[in-house]
Amino acid sequence: MTMAHGADIKPDDTTRKCRLCDGNVRLYGKQAVLGRHRVSYFKCDSCLGLQTEQPFWLDEAYASHAPNFDAGGCERNLELVLHCAGLLAELKFAPNATFLDFGAGSGLFARMMRDRGFDFRGYDKFADCRFNYGFNVAEPSEIEPAAITAFEVFEHFVNPADEIGALLAAGPEALFFTTGIFQDQGMDWPYLMADEGQHVFFFSEKALASIAGERYRLLGTGVVLTFFSRKALEERRIGGLDVEGLFAKIRNDPGRWMTHCLQRFADHLGDPWKHVQRDFSKLIASARLKSSR
Ligand SMILES: [Zn+2]
Repeated sequence: MTMAHGADIKPDDTTRKCRLCDGNVRLYGKQAVLGRHRVSYFKCDSCLGLQTEQPFWLDEAYASHAPNFDAGGCERNLELVLHCAGLLAELKFAPNATFLDFGAGSGLFARMMRDRGFDFRGYDKFADCRFNYGFNVAEPSEIEPAAITAFEVFEHFVNPADEIGALLAAGPEALFFTTGIFQDQGMDWPYLMADEGQHVFFFSEKALASIAGERYRLLGTGVVLTFFSRKALEERRIGGLDVEGLFAKIRNDPGRWMTHCLQRFADHLGDPWKHVQRDFSKLIASARLKSSR
């Protein structure tokens, strides 16, 4: 039965609507998802994004025994931690600022950012964020983060306008994210990750700019993309920090920026356990308080 999904869609079918912008979509190609479902992919005439047909296979894709081919997980976390620790330091968020890693997965990124002194909380609907035990939230609304990170998350959203809108509704100064940009790649584009079946929406730059809307502006460093609050951009400029200039500097000389980030990391290694010990003490105190009740 599942093989019949999408089989009745003709290439010029414009009756379907884009799940992001409500524009008309056209059949772009088909792909075997999870090795057994013949799934249609549609390109939107308006936002130029690519999306699967309404996903009916997600329970299978997120089952605990589902395959995970993400061999890049550790390398990506390491690069993102080096990059984001440097970036957040340059952006000079308040020392007591709280950050949310949305879709935190194993919690490795959030934990490593805590180790570098940033108060990161993890949240993931599908994972236990175990590395960041004791510093996760059951719901994103529990905190008011100064900034949110969401790495390799957006492409999982079935209705991205609603889901990204909910993140921005919390009013963070910035939402840092990564996602593969769709630029008319073929159906052999590895980022479709059809064997895992969790990637269901692929954004064009135009689509991302439209999500940024009037309150946010789409900026990129070459490693991360950001929805940066226009109000904050203006206020920071008055305060002396030109955020757009900083992003351009990083983008234009990535080698120099990474050298800077590695130097920061070397400095951190002068006293590597400081923040770990602080959190360890908090966890022990909290556990003892619970057991004494
Ligand atoms: Zn669209």
